[in-house]
Amino acid sequence: MVELLFLLLPVAAGYGYIMGKNSARSKAHEQNRQITSEYSKGLKFLLDREEDQGLEHLINLLEVSADSVEHYLTLAIMFRRRGEFDRAIKIHKLLLEQANLNSDTTTSILIELAQDYIMAGLLDCAEEHLLNLVERLNAKAIELLFDLYLQTKEWQKGISLYEKNGSLFSKHKLKVAVANFYCEQSILIEKPKLMRKVLGLESGVVRPLFELGKAAFLREDHVKAISYWRDLLMQTPNYTPLFLDDLEACYKNLGLCDQFETLLEQEVENGGVLIKIKYCRILVNNSRSSDAVKLLTKSLKKQPNIRGFSFLLEMITSQNQEIKIVIEQINELVQSYIATKTEFQCTQCGFSSHTLYWSCPSCKHWETIIPSRGLDGF
Ligand SMILES: [Zn+2]
Repeated sequence: MVELLFLLLPVAAGYGYIMGKNSARSKAHEQNRQITSEYSKGLKFLLDREEDQGLEHLINLLEVSADSVEHYLTLAIMFRRRGEFDRAIKIHKLLLEQANLNSDTTTSILIELAQDYIMAGLLDCAEEHLLNLVERLNAKAIELLFDLYLQTKEWQKGISLYEKNGSLFSKHKLKVAVANFYCEQSILIEKPKLMRKVLGLESGVVRPLFELGKAAFLREDHVKAISYWRDLLMQTPNYTPLFLDDLEACYKNLGLCDQFETLLEQEVENGGVLIKIKYCRILVNNSRSSDAVKLLTKSLKKQPNIRGFSFLLEMITSQNQEIKIVIEQINELVQSYIATKTEFQCTQCGFSSHTLYWSCPSCKHWETIIPSRGLDGF
Protein backbone atom coordinates (compact mmCIF):
# COMPACT_ATOMS: atom_id res chain seq x y z
CA MET A 1 0.00 0.00 0.00
CA VAL A 2 2.64 2.52 1.06
CA GLU A 3 4.67 2.03 -2.13
CA LEU A 4 1.57 2.66 -4.25
CA LEU A 5 1.44 6.15 -2.84
CA PHE A 6 4.66 7.07 -4.59
CA LEU A 7 2.59 7.12 -7.75
CA LEU A 8 1.51 10.52 -6.53
CA LEU A 9 4.93 11.92 -7.40
CA PRO A 10 4.62 11.66 -11.20
CA VAL A 11 1.04 12.82 -10.96
CA ALA A 12 2.12 15.92 -9.05
CA ALA A 13 4.95 16.49 -11.52
CA GLY A 14 2.61 16.03 -14.47
CA TYR A 15 0.17 18.41 -12.92
CA GLY A 16 2.81 21.11 -12.31
CA TYR A 17 4.16 20.69 -15.82
CA ILE A 18 0.76 21.05 -17.41
CA MET A 19 -0.14 24.05 -15.29
CA GLY A 20 3.12 25.85 -16.04
CA LYS A 21 3.28 25.14 -19.73
CA ASN A 22 -0.24 25.55 -20.91
CA SER A 23 -1.23 29.14 -21.38
CA ALA A 24 -4.79 28.27 -22.32
CA ARG A 25 -6.28 28.46 -18.90
CA SER A 26 -9.48 26.67 -19.66
CA LYS A 27 -7.68 23.69 -21.21
CA ALA A 28 -5.36 23.47 -18.22
CA HIS A 29 -8.30 23.71 -15.93
CA GLU A 30 -10.07 20.86 -17.73
CA GLN A 31 -6.91 18.66 -17.59
CA ASN A 32 -6.46 19.54 -13.97
CA ARG A 33 -9.99 18.53 -13.23
CA GLN A 34 -9.48 15.25 -15.12
CA ILE A 35 -6.25 14.42 -13.26
CA THR A 36 -7.73 15.34 -9.91
CA SER A 37 -10.79 13.27 -10.55
CA GLU A 38 -8.88 10.17 -11.67
CA TYR A 39 -6.31 10.63 -8.95
CA SER A 40 -8.98 10.99 -6.25
CA LYS A 41 -10.72 7.86 -7.44
CA GLY A 42 -7.42 5.94 -7.56
CA LEU A 43 -6.41 7.13 -4.13
CA LYS A 44 -9.80 6.33 -2.64
CA PHE A 45 -9.61 2.77 -3.98
CA LEU A 46 -6.09 2.40 -2.58
CA LEU A 47 -7.17 3.69 0.82
CA ASP A 48 -10.10 1.27 0.73
CA ARG A 49 -7.54 -1.49 -0.03
CA GLU A 50 -9.12 -1.98 -3.47
CA GLU A 51 -5.66 -1.97 -5.03
CA ASP A 52 -6.65 -3.30 -8.46
CA GLN A 53 -9.22 -0.60 -9.13
CA GLY A 54 -6.86 1.98 -7.65
CA LEU A 55 -4.13 0.97 -10.05
CA GLU A 56 -6.43 1.16 -13.04
CA HIS A 57 -7.42 4.72 -12.21
CA LEU A 58 -3.85 5.79 -11.67
CA ILE A 59 -2.79 4.14 -14.91
CA ASN A 60 -5.44 6.21 -16.70
CA LEU A 61 -3.48 9.29 -15.69
CA LEU A 62 -0.72 8.19 -18.04
CA GLU A 63 -2.68 9.68 -20.90
CA VAL A 64 -1.88 13.14 -19.58
CA SER A 65 1.48 12.33 -17.99
CA ALA A 66 3.45 9.97 -20.25
CA ASP A 67 6.70 10.83 -18.43
CA SER A 68 5.57 8.75 -15.50
CA VAL A 69 5.87 5.41 -17.37
CA GLU A 70 9.24 4.87 -15.66
CA HIS A 71 7.60 5.17 -12.25
CA TYR A 72 5.01 2.57 -13.14
CA LEU A 73 7.72 0.26 -14.47
CA THR A 74 9.55 0.60 -11.16
CA LEU A 75 6.39 -0.20 -9.28
CA ALA A 76 5.77 -3.30 -11.43
CA ILE A 77 9.34 -4.53 -10.85
CA MET A 78 8.76 -4.07 -7.12
CA PHE A 79 5.63 -6.22 -7.32
CA ARG A 80 7.51 -8.88 -9.28
CA ARG A 81 10.31 -9.00 -6.72
CA ARG A 82 7.72 -9.49 -4.00
CA GLY A 83 6.27 -12.42 -5.94
CA GLU A 84 3.07 -10.53 -6.84
CA PHE A 85 3.35 -11.48 -10.50
CA ASP A 86 -0.32 -10.88 -11.36
CA ARG A 87 0.01 -7.22 -10.32
CA ALA A 88 3.23 -6.76 -12.28
CA ILE A 89 1.61 -8.33 -15.35
CA LYS A 90 -1.46 -6.13 -14.96
CA ILE A 91 0.57 -2.91 -14.80
CA HIS A 92 2.65 -3.88 -17.82
CA LYS A 93 -0.41 -4.85 -19.85
CA LEU A 94 -2.17 -1.59 -18.96
CA LEU A 95 0.94 0.38 -19.91
CA LEU A 96 1.04 -1.35 -23.30
CA GLU A 97 -2.49 -0.16 -23.97
CA GLN A 98 -1.36 3.47 -23.83
CA ALA A 99 -1.39 5.08 -27.26
CA ASN A 100 1.40 7.59 -26.62
CA LEU A 101 4.33 5.17 -26.12
CA ASN A 102 7.37 5.25 -28.39
CA SER A 103 8.79 1.99 -29.76
CA ASP A 104 11.74 1.84 -27.29
CA THR A 105 9.39 2.18 -24.34
CA THR A 106 7.05 -0.46 -25.80
CA THR A 107 10.01 -2.84 -26.20
CA SER A 108 11.13 -2.24 -22.59
CA ILE A 109 7.63 -2.97 -21.34
CA LEU A 110 7.41 -6.15 -23.44
CA ILE A 111 10.77 -7.33 -22.02
CA GLU A 112 9.52 -6.66 -18.50
CA LEU A 113 6.26 -8.46 -19.22
CA ALA A 114 8.17 -11.49 -20.51
CA GLN A 115 10.15 -11.54 -17.27
CA ASP A 116 6.90 -11.44 -15.29
CA TYR A 117 5.68 -14.48 -17.25
CA ILE A 118 8.96 -16.34 -16.68
CA MET A 119 8.89 -15.64 -12.94
CA ALA A 120 5.21 -16.61 -12.77
CA GLY A 121 5.99 -19.91 -14.57
CA LEU A 122 3.91 -18.91 -17.61
CA LEU A 123 6.70 -20.01 -19.91
CA ASP A 124 4.67 -20.39 -23.11
CA CYS A 125 3.46 -16.77 -22.87
CA ALA A 126 7.01 -15.61 -22.15
CA GLU A 127 8.40 -17.54 -25.12
CA GLU A 128 5.78 -16.11 -27.49
CA HIS A 129 6.53 -12.53 -26.40
CA LEU A 130 10.27 -13.01 -26.61
CA LEU A 131 10.15 -14.62 -30.05
CA ASN A 132 8.19 -11.61 -31.29
CA LEU A 133 10.90 -9.37 -29.89
CA VAL A 134 13.63 -11.42 -31.57
CA GLU A 135 11.88 -10.71 -34.87
CA ARG A 136 12.42 -7.04 -34.04
CA LEU A 137 16.15 -7.91 -33.64
CA ASN A 138 16.15 -7.43 -29.89
CA ALA A 139 19.31 -9.00 -28.35
CA LYS A 140 18.02 -8.82 -24.76
CA ALA A 141 15.11 -11.07 -25.80
CA ILE A 142 17.68 -13.65 -26.97
CA GLU A 143 19.32 -13.65 -23.53
CA LEU A 144 15.98 -14.18 -21.82
CA LEU A 145 15.01 -16.94 -24.27
CA PHE A 146 18.29 -18.73 -23.52
CA ASP A 147 17.58 -18.48 -19.78
CA LEU A 148 14.11 -19.87 -20.47
CA TYR A 149 15.38 -22.76 -22.62
CA LEU A 150 17.98 -23.54 -19.94
CA GLN A 151 15.10 -23.82 -17.48
CA THR A 152 13.10 -26.10 -19.81
CA LYS A 153 16.19 -27.91 -21.17
CA GLU A 154 15.02 -27.24 -24.74
CA TRP A 155 18.52 -27.15 -26.17
CA GLN A 156 17.47 -27.59 -29.80
CA LYS A 157 15.24 -24.49 -29.64
CA GLY A 158 18.23 -22.43 -28.52
CA ILE A 159 20.39 -23.91 -31.28
CA SER A 160 17.74 -23.11 -33.94
CA LEU A 161 17.48 -19.57 -32.61
CA TYR A 162 21.25 -19.17 -32.97
CA GLU A 163 21.31 -20.67 -36.45
CA LYS A 164 18.59 -18.24 -37.60
CA ASN A 165 19.80 -15.10 -35.80
CA GLY A 166 23.59 -15.49 -35.53
CA SER A 167 24.19 -11.73 -35.81
CA LEU A 168 22.35 -11.11 -32.52
CA PHE A 169 24.80 -13.33 -30.63
CA SER A 170 27.69 -10.88 -30.28
CA LYS A 171 28.12 -11.09 -26.49
CA HIS A 172 30.72 -13.50 -25.09
CA LYS A 173 28.24 -14.72 -22.49
CA LEU A 174 25.74 -15.70 -25.21
CA LYS A 175 28.34 -17.48 -27.31
CA VAL A 176 29.40 -19.55 -24.30
CA ALA A 177 25.73 -20.40 -23.78
CA VAL A 178 25.37 -21.44 -27.46
CA ALA A 179 28.43 -23.72 -27.21
CA ASN A 180 26.96 -25.34 -24.11
CA PHE A 181 23.54 -25.78 -25.76
CA TYR A 182 25.26 -27.72 -28.55
CA CYS A 183 27.07 -29.84 -25.93
CA GLU A 184 23.87 -30.56 -24.01
CA GLN A 185 21.97 -31.47 -27.19
CA SER A 186 24.75 -33.69 -28.52
CA ILE A 187 24.88 -35.57 -25.21
CA LEU A 188 21.07 -35.87 -25.24
CA ILE A 189 20.94 -37.36 -28.74
CA GLU A 190 24.28 -39.15 -28.33
CA LYS A 191 25.92 -37.47 -31.32
CA PRO A 192 29.26 -36.02 -30.17
CA LYS A 193 30.00 -34.81 -33.71
CA LEU A 194 27.43 -32.03 -33.22
CA MET A 195 29.84 -30.38 -30.77
CA ARG A 196 32.46 -29.97 -33.47
CA LYS A 197 30.27 -27.24 -34.97
CA VAL A 198 31.08 -24.94 -32.06
CA LEU A 199 34.81 -25.62 -31.81
CA GLY A 200 36.42 -22.22 -32.23
CA LEU A 201 33.10 -20.37 -31.95
CA GLU A 202 34.52 -18.19 -29.17
CA SER A 203 37.92 -18.09 -27.50
CA GLY A 204 37.90 -19.23 -23.90
CA VAL A 205 35.04 -21.72 -24.33
CA VAL A 206 36.08 -25.04 -22.77
CA ARG A 207 33.12 -27.39 -22.71
CA PRO A 208 33.20 -28.69 -26.34
CA LEU A 209 36.90 -29.60 -26.04
CA PHE A 210 36.29 -31.34 -22.72
CA GLU A 211 33.23 -33.28 -23.92
CA LEU A 212 34.76 -34.26 -27.27
CA GLY A 213 37.85 -35.54 -25.41
CA LYS A 214 35.63 -37.48 -23.02
CA ALA A 215 33.56 -38.99 -25.86
CA ALA A 216 36.74 -40.03 -27.69
CA PHE A 217 38.14 -41.54 -24.48
CA LEU A 218 34.95 -43.54 -23.91
CA ARG A 219 35.11 -45.04 -27.40
CA GLU A 220 38.82 -45.73 -26.77
CA ASP A 221 39.99 -43.34 -29.48
CA HIS A 222 42.97 -42.32 -27.34
CA VAL A 223 44.70 -40.27 -30.05
CA LYS A 224 41.69 -37.96 -30.42
CA ALA A 225 41.13 -37.78 -26.67
CA ILE A 226 44.74 -36.65 -26.22
CA SER A 227 44.35 -34.11 -29.02
CA TYR A 228 41.22 -32.48 -27.56
CA TRP A 229 42.37 -32.53 -23.95
CA ARG A 230 45.84 -31.21 -24.79
CA ASP A 231 44.19 -28.29 -26.60
CA LEU A 232 42.07 -27.66 -23.52
CA LEU A 233 45.09 -27.89 -21.22
CA MET A 234 46.96 -25.36 -23.36
CA GLN A 235 43.94 -23.03 -23.26
CA THR A 236 43.53 -23.17 -19.47
CA PRO A 237 44.84 -25.42 -16.68
CA ASN A 238 41.66 -24.77 -14.63
CA TYR A 239 39.79 -27.89 -15.76
CA THR A 240 42.73 -30.33 -15.69
CA PRO A 241 41.45 -32.12 -12.54
CA LEU A 242 38.45 -33.32 -14.61
CA PHE A 243 40.51 -35.39 -17.05
CA LEU A 244 44.15 -35.68 -15.91
CA ASP A 245 43.92 -39.36 -14.85
CA ASP A 246 42.12 -40.32 -18.08
CA LEU A 247 44.65 -38.36 -20.14
CA GLU A 248 47.45 -40.30 -18.45
CA ALA A 249 45.58 -43.55 -19.26
CA CYS A 250 45.43 -42.55 -22.95
CA TYR A 251 49.19 -42.01 -23.13
CA LYS A 252 49.82 -45.29 -21.27
CA ASN A 253 47.52 -47.14 -23.63
CA LEU A 254 49.41 -45.87 -26.64
CA GLY A 255 52.76 -46.67 -24.98
CA LEU A 256 53.63 -42.96 -24.95
CA CYS A 257 54.41 -42.43 -21.24
CA ASP A 258 57.48 -40.36 -22.13
CA GLN A 259 55.30 -37.86 -23.96
CA PHE A 260 52.99 -37.59 -20.94
CA GLU A 261 56.02 -36.94 -18.74
CA THR A 262 57.21 -34.21 -21.13
CA LEU A 263 53.75 -32.65 -21.10
CA LEU A 264 53.71 -32.58 -17.27
CA GLU A 265 57.22 -31.14 -17.21
CA GLN A 266 56.03 -28.28 -19.44
CA GLU A 267 52.96 -27.61 -17.31
CA VAL A 268 54.32 -28.25 -13.81
CA GLU A 269 55.30 -24.64 -13.18
CA ASN A 270 51.97 -23.02 -14.07
CA GLY A 271 49.57 -25.95 -13.66
CA GLY A 272 47.57 -26.71 -10.52
CA VAL A 273 48.61 -28.94 -7.63
CA LEU A 274 47.32 -32.16 -9.31
CA ILE A 275 49.81 -31.69 -12.15
CA LYS A 276 52.58 -31.13 -9.60
CA ILE A 277 51.58 -34.27 -7.66
CA LYS A 278 51.37 -36.34 -10.88
CA TYR A 279 54.81 -35.12 -11.93
CA CYS A 280 56.28 -35.83 -8.48
CA ARG A 281 54.89 -39.39 -8.63
CA ILE A 282 56.76 -39.94 -11.88
CA LEU A 283 59.95 -38.56 -10.30
CA VAL A 284 59.52 -40.94 -7.33
CA ASN A 285 58.99 -43.90 -9.71
CA ASN A 286 62.19 -42.88 -11.49
CA SER A 287 64.09 -43.02 -8.13
CA ARG A 288 64.22 -39.23 -7.92
CA SER A 289 62.34 -38.90 -4.62
CA SER A 290 64.54 -36.14 -3.22
CA ASP A 291 63.94 -34.05 -6.39
CA ALA A 292 60.21 -34.60 -5.95
CA VAL A 293 60.28 -33.49 -2.28
CA LYS A 294 62.35 -30.42 -3.19
CA LEU A 295 60.02 -29.47 -6.04
CA LEU A 296 56.87 -29.84 -3.96
CA THR A 297 58.31 -28.08 -0.90
CA LYS A 298 59.36 -25.12 -3.06
CA SER A 299 55.93 -24.98 -4.68
CA LEU A 300 54.12 -25.17 -1.31
CA LYS A 301 56.18 -22.31 0.07
CA LYS A 302 55.09 -20.23 -2.88
CA GLN A 303 51.48 -21.46 -3.05
CA PRO A 304 50.33 -23.28 0.10
CA ASN A 305 47.93 -26.09 -0.75
CA ILE A 306 46.44 -28.78 1.45
CA ARG A 307 46.47 -31.55 -1.20
CA GLY A 308 50.11 -30.79 -1.97
CA PHE A 309 50.89 -30.89 1.76
CA SER A 310 49.19 -34.27 2.07
CA PHE A 311 51.23 -35.70 -0.80
CA LEU A 312 54.42 -34.27 0.72
CA LEU A 313 53.62 -36.14 3.95
CA GLU A 314 53.08 -39.30 1.91
CA MET A 315 56.51 -38.95 0.28
CA ILE A 316 58.25 -38.20 3.59
CA THR A 317 56.60 -41.23 5.20
CA SER A 318 57.90 -43.56 2.53
CA GLN A 319 61.42 -42.17 3.05
CA ASN A 320 61.42 -42.28 6.85
CA GLN A 321 60.05 -45.44 8.43
CA GLU A 322 60.77 -44.29 12.03
CA ILE A 323 58.19 -41.51 11.98
CA LYS A 324 55.83 -43.34 9.64
CA ILE A 325 52.99 -43.90 12.14
CA VAL A 326 52.93 -40.30 13.40
CA ILE A 327 52.96 -38.81 9.90
CA GLU A 328 50.32 -41.23 8.70
CA GLN A 329 48.06 -40.06 11.53
CA ILE A 330 48.65 -36.43 10.61
CA ASN A 331 47.88 -37.24 6.98
CA GLU A 332 44.63 -38.93 7.98
CA LEU A 333 43.56 -35.69 9.67
CA VAL A 334 44.54 -33.73 6.58
CA GLN A 335 42.55 -36.11 4.36
CA SER A 336 39.45 -35.76 6.56
CA TYR A 337 39.84 -31.99 6.31
CA ILE A 338 40.03 -32.21 2.50
CA ALA A 339 36.89 -34.36 2.42
CA THR A 340 34.89 -31.57 4.06
CA LYS A 341 35.80 -29.09 1.34
CA THR A 342 33.72 -28.49 -1.80
CA GLU A 343 35.53 -29.30 -5.00
CA PHE A 344 33.90 -26.75 -7.28
CA GLN A 345 33.22 -23.05 -7.04
CA CYS A 346 31.54 -20.42 -9.23
CA THR A 347 33.88 -17.58 -10.15
CA GLN A 348 30.87 -15.35 -10.79
CA CYS A 349 28.75 -15.70 -7.63
CA GLY A 350 30.81 -17.88 -5.27
CA PHE A 351 28.35 -20.82 -5.29
CA SER A 352 30.22 -23.96 -4.22
CA SER A 353 29.42 -27.64 -4.54
CA HIS A 354 30.79 -31.17 -4.63
CA THR A 355 29.43 -31.60 -8.17
CA LEU A 356 30.43 -29.89 -11.40
CA TYR A 357 27.60 -27.90 -12.99
CA TRP A 358 28.33 -26.38 -16.38
CA SER A 359 25.56 -23.84 -15.76
CA CYS A 360 25.71 -22.38 -12.25
CA PRO A 361 22.47 -23.29 -10.37
CA SER A 362 22.73 -19.99 -8.52
CA CYS A 363 23.64 -17.30 -11.08
CA LYS A 364 22.84 -19.35 -14.26
CA HIS A 365 26.09 -18.38 -15.97
CA TRP A 366 27.72 -21.04 -18.15
CA GLU A 367 31.25 -22.32 -17.48
CA THR A 368 31.82 -20.15 -14.42
CA ILE A 369 32.04 -23.13 -12.04
CA ILE A 370 35.58 -24.48 -12.02
CA PRO A 371 37.51 -26.91 -9.81
CA SER A 372 38.41 -24.92 -6.66
CA ARG A 373 41.78 -23.19 -6.51
CA GLY A 374 43.80 -21.85 -3.57
CA LEU A 375 44.64 -23.49 -0.24
CA ASP A 376 41.85 -26.11 -0.31
CA GLY A 377 41.64 -26.53 -4.09
CA PHE A 378 43.38 -28.29 -6.91
ZN1 LIG B 1 27.31 -18.65 -10.10
